[in-house]
Amino acid sequence: MTDRGFRPWPGHVVIVGGGTAGWLAAMMLSDVARRRQTGTRVTVIESSRIGVIGVGEGSTAVFRQMLRHFGLDEGEFLAETGATIKYGIRHRDWRRKGHSYDGPIDDPHLVTGRVRLDAYAVAAGRSVTEAHLFQHLLNGQKAPVAEREGRQIPVGPFDHAYHFDQALVGRWLRRKARGIALIDDQVTGIETGEAGIAALRLEAGGG
Ligand SMILES: Cc1cc2nc3c(=O)[nH]c(=O)nc-3n(C[C@H](O)[C@H](O)[C@H](O)COP(=O)(O)OP(=O)(O)OC[C@H]3O[C@@H](n4cnc5c(N)ncnc54)[C@H](O)[C@@H]3O)c2cc1C
Repeated sequence: MTDRGFRPWPGHVVIVGGGTAGWLAAMMLSDVARRRQTGTRVTVIESSRIGVIGVGEGSTAVFRQMLRHFGLDEGEFLAETGATIKYGIRHRDWRRKGHSYDGPIDDPHLVTGRVRLDAYAVAAGRSVTEAHLFQHLLNGQKAPVAEREGRQIPVGPFDHAYHFDQALVGRWLRRKARGIALIDDQVTGIETGEAGIAALRLEAGGG
């Protein structure tokens, strides 16, 4: 197979690698370009012959905000990727053997912009985790929603995080991405010019 050059044109962003990192970057860039009407095209080059790292990955609450921003359904995300809701991180045997500490992932003030941590409880000497709704949900092994007349209602304004298989989420994001070109090929090298990378060498030529 002969390596051939793939030369992006001005206003064309090419992302090499299509795991969660690649597809999230592509979706965000494409979204900004659409909103600002820059005419920028986004292409992802990934190789079906080279897998993703495929680790279990923990997000922050920003991931949930991102789902909402792109109009992606959380229920579908959880069902199709097997992701799980993550309230915090349990540090077992933290200070000494037998002592454990649950740390929240995000400060609720940062992730809602409206609700602050219960500062009165903290000032009264209670731990930060005790003052956080997620700790109570974690202790009771509860979901962050209540069922009312067949509808699911959020129990608070907070955005939770997730833990997921990044290979499955990468594939799900690829299915959900709109207006992004995909090239399944292997980058074998680059050609540089005065402004940096001028072209990518692709194994099959970018078809
Ligand atoms: C053990 C472990 C735990 C982690 N935990 C977390 C965590 O909790 N939270 C978190 O945010 N991050 C975590 N990370 C980091 C995160 O998983 C990865 O850094 C990130 O998702 C990897 O994204 P990536 O796009 O770099 O690689 P990948 O998702 O592995 O994707 C690589 C992509 O590049 C393509 N590719 C590779 N070579 C070529 C080529 N020559 N030509 C064309 N395409 C090519 C592949 O086809 C694939 O699509 C963890 C990483 C590890 C190893």
